[in-house]
Amino acid sequence: MGEQVVTDSTANGKAAQQENLNVLQSTQTVIEEALTKMGYPPVMNELLKEPMRMFTVRIPIRMDNGETKIFTGYRAQHNDAVGPTKGGVRFHPDVTEDEVKALSIWMSLKCGIVDLPYGGGKGGIICDPREMSFRELEALSRGYVRAVSQIVGPTKDIPAPDVFTNSQIMAWMMDEYSRIREHDSPGFITGKPIVLGGSAGRETATAKGVTIMIEEAAKKKGIELQGARVVVQGFGNAGSFLAKFMHEAGAKVVAISDAYGALHDEAGLDIEYLLDRRDSFGTVTKLFTNTITNKELLELDCDILVPAAIENQITASNAHNIKARIVVEAANGPTTLEATKILTERDILLVPDVLASSGGVTVSYFEWVQNNQGYYWSEEEVDSRLREMLVRAFNNVYNTHVSRGVNMRLAAYMVGVRKMAEASRFRGWV
Ligand code: GLU
Repeated sequence: MGEQVVTDSTANGKAAQQENLNVLQSTQTVIEEALTKMGYPPVMNELLKEPMRMFTVRIPIRMDNGETKIFTGYRAQHNDAVGPTKGGVRFHPDVTEDEVKALSIWMSLKCGIVDLPYGGGKGGIICDPREMSFRELEALSRGYVRAVSQIVGPTKDIPAPDVFTNSQIMAWMMDEYSRIREHDSPGFITGKPIVLGGSAGRETATAKGVTIMIEEAAKKKGIELQGARVVVQGFGNAGSFLAKFMHEAGAKVVAISDAYGALHDEAGLDIEYLLDRRDSFGTVTKLFTNTITNKELLELDCDILVPAAIENQITASNAHNIKARIVVEAANGPTTLEATKILTERDILLVPDVLASSGGVTVSYFEWVQNNQGYYWSEEEVDSRLREMLVRAFNNVYNTHVSRGVNMRLAAYMVGVRKMAEASRFRGWV
C-alpha cells in the first residue's frame, strides 16, 4: 500500500489533504516517538519498526464451479523476544502486506500493555468470505495452515480470529494443524469452539474489554454510564456485543452501523432486536430504509463514541466535528495521528486501540493456558481475571499519560513497547 491521502472538500478538508493514511507508517512514527521518549538508542527502533519475519503464501483452492483460484495470504511475526507471537488471521478483500505488518506490531503492543508472555503476530488472506461457500472457506482455512505450518505452532506463533474469521474457521485450522503434526494440538490456535478446547467468555471478550475501558474512562470524565448516550460504529463481533453490554449497563445506544449504513434513534435503539436480525458478518442496516451514513454517525451528539469497524475513520477532516467526550477504539487503527492530536487538544479522552481492544487477546491467552494445563475455567473466573488485568492496563496507560504529559496513544505505546525492548536487550539482540 503506498501513501494514501484523504481528499475531502469539507471545511476541514484542507488540513486533511496531506494526511498519511498508511497504518504501518503511522505506527512506525509512534513506535519511534515512544522509544525516543524512553531513552532507547536508535538501533532499538531499527529492530522494532518492522516485523522480524514476514511470510507470503499463495494458496490454490478448487472453487465450487470447478475452477481453481489462487489466493494470497500473509503471516507477520513482529518480535518474539518475550515469547511466541500471537494474533488473529483476517479474511478480507482489502488485506495488504503493510496492513498485516502494522497489525502484528499492534499485537505486540497489546501483549505488552496487558503484560502477556507473547510478542505480536498477524495473518491475513485477500478474499471475500461473504461471497464464498462453506466448503470453499474450509478449503481456504486448511490451505492457509498447510502453507504457514512451518512457522506457526503452540510455542512459536498462535493464530486467532479477526475480521471475518470465527470459531468454525479456528476449528478447521486446528484440525488441519493437528493432522500435520499427527497429534491433537488445541494450543495451536485460540478462539475455538468450547467443545474443541475454546475458553468460556472468548467470544464476548473483546466487547467485555471495551466495556471495562468505557467504565474506567467514564470515571475519569465523571460520566455516569446509566443514561449515557453511546454511538457504536460497526456491528461485528466487537460492536454488536458491546452494544448489548452498554444497553444492559443502562446506557442508551443511540446509533449503530455496518458497512452499508447506520441507524440512529435519540430515544435509544432496540438492541435485542438488531442482534437477533444481524447476519454472521454483522450486517443489519439493509433491513431498514431510514438510514444515515457512517460519516454522519461519527459526528452525532453523544457522550461515548466507539469506532468498532475499520481503519482511518476519524481523520483530520472530521476530528473537529466529533461531539463525544470519550472515544474508545474497539477497532484496530480507526483514528489517524493527526486526528489523535485534534481530539487530545479538544480534551476528548481517547482510549487507543492497542489498549481498548486488548480483551480479545487476553482471553485468548487464558484459552492457551487452559489448553496447556488441560484444565478449564468457569466464565466467572475468566471474567474476573480479565477485569483485573484490563483495569491495571488502563491505569498504567492513563498514569503514564498524566505523569509524562503525553497523549493516550503515545502513553499506550510507551507502556506496550517497554517489555519487548527489555526482552530484546536481555537476549543480547541489541
Ligand atoms: N484479532 C484479535 C486482535 O486483534 C485477537 C487476537 C488474539 O486473540 O490472539 O486483538
